[in-house]
Amino acid sequence: MNGVRTISILGSTGSIGTSALSVVEHANVQSPDTVFEIDTLTGGQNAELLIKQARQFKPKCVVIADPDKREQVQDALSDLNIEVSAGTDAIEEVARRPVDRLLAAIVGISGLPSTLAAVEAGNSIALANKESMVCAGPLLNRIAADREVAIVPTDSEHNAMFQVMERREDVERIILTASGGPFRTASREELKTVTPRRALAHPRWDMGQKISIDSATLFNKGLELIEACYLFDLPEDQIEVVVHPQSILHSAVAYRDGSVLAQMGVPDMRTPIAHALTWPDRREPTPVDRLDLVALSQLDFEALDAKKFPAVDLSRQAIRVGKGAPIALNCANEGAVAAFLTGQCGFLDISWIVETVLERFLNGPMSCEDCENLEAILAIQAEAERLTGALLDEVKSQKQERTA
Ligand code: NAD
Ligand code: MG
Repeated sequence: MNGVRTISILGSTGSIGTSALSVVEHANVQSPDTVFEIDTLTGGQNAELLIKQARQFKPKCVVIADPDKREQVQDALSDLNIEVSAGTDAIEEVARRPVDRLLAAIVGISGLPSTLAAVEAGNSIALANKESMVCAGPLLNRIAADREVAIVPTDSEHNAMFQVMERREDVERIILTASGGPFRTASREELKTVTPRRALAHPRWDMGQKISIDSATLFNKGLELIEACYLFDLPEDQIEVVVHPQSILHSAVAYRDGSVLAQMGVPDMRTPIAHALTWPDRREPTPVDRLDLVALSQLDFEALDAKKFPAVDLSRQAIRVGKGAPIALNCANEGAVAAFLTGQCGFLDISWIVETVLERFLNGPMSCEDCENLEAILAIQAEAERLTGALLDEVKSQKQERTA
């Protein structure tokens, strides 16, 4: 594509959002012509950062999810010709504005309505918000196919798979790599006493809070496995998870003839973001460090310890069942992570909560329901949140006993 690319960034104040703006800034400064123009930026709570971004990048629209912060944003931008609105409905609305690519970078299932709205409106998506694909993969794929809209994976692993994906029918398996997170070498005993502060310190990636905890529990890999099944239409047993602590080889696709094609690069989200924003081109330079294989000298790979980290097996179970099971797993995990971050449960409780909620969901009346529209998906979300809330109450009363 030649000329200016118009993009929107939903979740611009987050880790992915700020990395994307760094890509935009670099490309615009390096090129004699404008490479990217921003149509819309949205943020959740951080009005100060959203205002700063709006003043620098001069989008046409800005939305703050928190309605209490509308006035603050409006006042701070009143000298600029920027439309300011607030609330989650407003985010859905701006997601429908036509752009060349929309980066879906809100965290959690809260990103689903706007991702869906963007695809319905015919916008091509750079998808970072993996929970959207986990909860609504078949629906998103169907609408994207109807509207002939591309969904370009932006998660580093799926972006890697996408880059090396040739003919789907020639694929033997996908190799999904995992850094192993901050507790790769910790014992199960040590995991009992993990605090949010320690869990948030990831050895390779600097990310938002929720995905950092997911990386520590390996639910991030479980969600990514489900995401890969939906994105590439493969059963879970054709996706192998391999631990690769250096996070240099971002994932690979193995073909019937024995060839394995992998994508590599330093662990910096700006590479997959730049690829997803500009695909099918890759002309824009990024400010990321270049890979030096000699300096690196060695890449390590090892098997995942499924006993210590049950998240991937639980995710395999959920995607095998399909329908609402991945939604239940995702929402139980979101609830458990929030509870862990606020001290309501321990680190090991997260996978126990997900396992128990999934089991209760699968034995309940909603497990057979189809998830063919947003309403049905949100109903399953509500049920999973109810089951998670009830379990958290049980955890509260049993906490003392179980950690003793
Ligand atoms: P983050 O918490 O840093 O940022 C999330 C963004 O969404 C922020 O702008 C926040 O204000 C906004 N937001 C949060 N809740 C919202 C709500 N209810 N309504 C509207 N806006 C809301 O998260 P992140 O690390 O940037 O991750 C974003 C998504 O990208 C996640 O789905 C994550 O799994 C995925 N992802 C992130 C990384 C990474 O390196 N950070 C890598 C791969 C995939
Ligand atoms: Mg990833």
